[in-house]
Amino acid sequence: MEQNDHPASARPKPRLTRAQYMRRKRLRLARNWAILLLVCAAVVALMTKGILWLLPKANALLAGPQSFEAASYDGTAYAFDADDARLVLVNANLPYAEEPAPALAAVTDNSTIQLEAEAAEACRTMLEAAKADGIELVLNAGYLDVDGRSAVYETQKQAYLDAGKTEEQAASLAEDIQPRAECSEHGTGYAVDILSADYTTRDTGFAATRAYEWLTAYAAEYGFILRYPQDRQAATGVVFEPWHWRYVGTENALAIRASGLSLEEFLTLQRAS
Ligand SMILES: [Zn+2]
Repeated sequence: MEQNDHPASARPKPRLTRAQYMRRKRLRLARNWAILLLVCAAVVALMTKGILWLLPKANALLAGPQSFEAASYDGTAYAFDADDARLVLVNANLPYAEEPAPALAAVTDNSTIQLEAEAAEACRTMLEAAKADGIELVLNAGYLDVDGRSAVYETQKQAYLDAGKTEEQAASLAEDIQPRAECSEHGTGYAVDILSADYTTRDTGFAATRAYEWLTAYAAEYGFILRYPQDRQAATGVVFEPWHWRYVGTENALAIRASGLSLEEFLTLQRAS
């Protein structure tokens, strides 16, 4: 073996004086205490952090999900304006006299869905507000030109024909869900079909979602009303469509929602008074 393989420890250590020995002992003691205190502090910090992280989660779990409730509404300041373009009424009895040409804007930067400019901005603000509440609204359709509206109607009608309905039956059933092109308010740029990230089918099942609960509570604050409510089908001539929302402006939306009426009934009542 070479000499190098024998470490220094093999050589006898120089003897420490008593003072040196005591000094080293004190230093070691101090170091060990410092280590112990640091470890204790770290453990306490971790536990505190863990508890603080856990508490709100446990609390949320016990309290259940946050419920969405509409703010109370005092309609005394509401003034109906019969010339408000945002209250335009389009239905099976009131088809377009001519194809509308709204000034359009994309709702979001990365969306192909367009609405009338004011409605688009209100809708964008609404999407952001919903997101802040943990609700991911997904736009399904906005402004549709005459071809787009025809296609939606024809697709619906074809589904009934495929299901064995006669031409007449299929047309009638389709109109209850998707009005004909000249009667569909998707041409105004004020109508928007809204679903959610966790529910992407346009059917009544959407009414059971948190997103629908959120819309029911807050959409009016952004100027949107549920256009075809469950209990107003006789007045609207259209089945319950929890996904179809209509921009009318905030003041109108709050008043219409508070009235419990459909747009048809609300306008009739306001024009008569
Ligand atoms: Zn729609």
